[in-house]
This record gives sequence, C-alpha cells and structure tokens, in this order.
Amino acid sequence: MTEITLRSGREKSVLRRHPWIFSGAVASGIAGLGEIVRVRSAKGETLGYGCFSPDSQIRVRMISFGEGPAPDEKFISNRVRESVERRRLTAPWMFSEPEAGCPQGAARLVNAEADGLPGVVADCYAGWVVCQFTSTFAESWKSVIAEALAGSVPNCKGVSARSDVEVRRKEGLSVSDGLEILSGSEPPEVIEIAEGPARFLVDVRKGHKTGFYLDQRDARAAVGALAKGREVLNCFCYTGGFGIYAAVGGASKVTQVDVSSDALALAARNLERTRGASAAAASAACEVEQVEADVFKYLRECRDRGRKFGMIVLDPPKFAETKSQLDKAARGYKDINLLAMKLLDKDGILATFSCSGAMDAEFFDTILAEAAQDARRGFQVVGRTGHAADHPVSLAFPEGRYLKGVILRAI
Ligand code: SAH
Repeated sequence: MTEITLRSGREKSVLRRHPWIFSGAVASGIAGLGEIVRVRSAKGETLGYGCFSPDSQIRVRMISFGEGPAPDEKFISNRVRESVERRRLTAPWMFSEPEAGCPQGAARLVNAEADGLPGVVADCYAGWVVCQFTSTFAESWKSVIAEALAGSVPNCKGVSARSDVEVRRKEGLSVSDGLEILSGSEPPEVIEIAEGPARFLVDVRKGHKTGFYLDQRDARAAVGALAKGREVLNCFCYTGGFGIYAAVGGASKVTQVDVSSDALALAARNLERTRGASAAAASAACEVEQVEADVFKYLRECRDRGRKFGMIVLDPPKFAETKSQLDKAARGYKDINLLAMKLLDKDGILATFSCSGAMDAEFFDTILAEAAQDARRGFQVVGRTGHAADHPVSLAFPEGRYLKGVILRAI
C-alpha cells in the first residue's frame, strides 16, 4: 500500500480526527487518483488511511483513523449502511412501514465528512436516492456506495448521481448535467414528497442541490408556527417552502418572491398539492401572491410604497463562496436585512438566514446588529435554527457547518 508521510507537526489535525490533509502538509508520497493510502506522521506512526487526490489542494481525505485495517469494499459499504441506520434517530419517518408511515418521506441519509464519507451526499426523496459525489473518494467508490444505499434504504426505488457541482473541478473530476442511474429505476420528472403539513414536488435533475433544501426543514416548521394572522413576505422563495408553511400556519396573506420563473411555477404547484393533502391545509386558504422579481429591487419598491409586513423571511443564495468574498457578501446581507427590518410592523418577525459557510454565526449576528442600528429599531432574538438533525455536523470538522438562521422580533 502506498504511504504518505506528513511534515513534522502536521499530524496534529489528523490526531484530532480532522479529515482533510492539505498538499502543504505532505512531506513525501504520491499515489493515483482515488487510491487508498496509509498516512504516517513524520516519526513513522500510522495515523490512519485516506483517499488520495493528486490534483486537489486537499491531497488526502481521511477515511479511517488509527492502526487499521485499511478500508476496503466491505468497510466502505458498512459505513454507508451505518450512516443510513443512524437516521432512525434523526429521520425516523424514513423507516416507517409504508402502510403505517409516510412513503413520501425525504431526508439526507449521508452527510459527507460528518458521516465519515468525505464528499458523499445522499438525499432520499420518496424512495429515490440522489447523490452528489464531490471528492475523488466518492467518485472512485460510487458503485460500492450506490449498492450499499440500495441495500439499506427502506423501500429504495433507485439510486442516481448528479455531477453538476462546480466544486468537482477542484478534485480533477468532470462536471456534467443530467442524472447517472447507478441502481434501480430512473426517477420521474418530479418526485412528490411529504414534509409535515406540506407536499413538495422535487426536480432532482435541475433543482438546487439534489433538488430541495432539506436542510431548512426545522426552520420551515419554526416559520409556520409563528405565521398565524401575519402578512408574510417570503423572499428568495425558490419552490415556496417557507411561504407554504406560513399559509398552512394561518398567515393572513403570503407573498412569494423569486427571480426564477421555473421555481415559482413549482411553488404554485406545491401550494396546490399541499392544500389538496389535508383538510387542515385546505382550510388555511389565505391569499398567496407570487412575484417574479429581484429581491433587492422588490424590497426597495415596498419601502417606496410604504408597505408593511407582519413577517419577512430572507433565505438568499450563498453570497460568499470563499473568505475573500466575505466583505462583499456582508454588504449584501446587510442591505436586504436593513430593508426588511424597516418594512416590519411593530412586533413583526424577521426570519433571516445565511448559508455561506465562509461566514460564521458571530459575523452574521454582527451584520444583523449593524442593520438594526441603521434601521433605528430594537430587535429581540426569539429563535435560532440550523441544519436539520439529518444533516449532522462533526465536532472535529466545523467546516461542515454552513447554515445559520436567526429569528428576530421587532420591538
Ligand atoms: N428559501 C428557499 C431556498 C432559497 S434558494 C427554500 O426554502 O427552499 C435561493 C433562491 O434565490 C433561488 O430560488 C434563486 O432563484 C433565488 N434568487 C437568487 N438571487 C435572487 C435575487 N436577487 N432576487 C430574487 N431571487 C433570487
């Protein structure tokens, strides 16, 4: 087995179980793309085993720590099964018998580094598993991973992969559109999932991420629970998640805003499906308006027209991809939050989010505090949200934490 030796002192992060070894930490050793290597400290101690990536800054992604044995097919397959099994705790609805439970359930079953499978994401939508493989480890072992998923996911109908994520290039992997079917059958054009009171149609070929923002599940519930009697403005609504929860939660009116007409078209269908799904959802039939617009402009229009809202949701796309974009991103976050803060009624609620991993929670709080200062209003933090529990974060890998949600009340 090929051995990689680290520079003196660079073993520390590996001993803390951090899974990434950067090129600058490697003293010697070279291997092929996707090859499993033994990693040694400068003193010769075996630190564990990882997967080699010759073109990436992240030269090795650790798969196991300690003496060994070295990971093989069975090891990787077991790790996938364990990751799925762990969802009995964090996504129990995925394991109900079809007749008793919800066959339309959706959850993340593998969350990359946090589940010991670097660069492997697997989301399940009503039995169809859609993966994203963003490391050479993931790409090299994809057939083993897919087979293990097919064998362990309850009522699995098929396993496919999307390779359209730009970050693959950093690993020397190709980027292409479309679904690659790895096991079972091909998913339909849209898959209907059930989440709480809502029904969502998921486009697993062209939708964002693997098709849907499963990570915001808890935040959607929080917004739904606070919406009663309020006029809600849902900015960057995508396929309508927050607004639909707000409508079911008893909002007096909901306005969904996005620049994408495709996203809005699905949002309208999602509302219809949700209303058709239960009597409770049908009875919460408030007016839902959809607006195709740039949120930065729309908020200014609302300001100029003197409009007010009882609740505003701001869940924009990632403004900062890297630390170097933080300043520009901070201006963007401050701009929309400041505008929204001014549009709130007394006691109005602002549910505001950042999914930029490069921006930590403290920095986001600072931006919100500055926006409140400029808006000349006092705000209370009445809630915080993060990744839903099926998107675990490893304590040894804080880089896996990206989503921050703050729920504020204007006072
Ligand atoms: N809140 C959504 C996810 C938001 S994803 C949910 O819970 O599902 C970000 C969305 O912002 C995308 O749908 C994208 O089309 C939209 N978007 C990006 N820039 C925008 C802009 N300047 N104005 C309006 N929408 C924008």
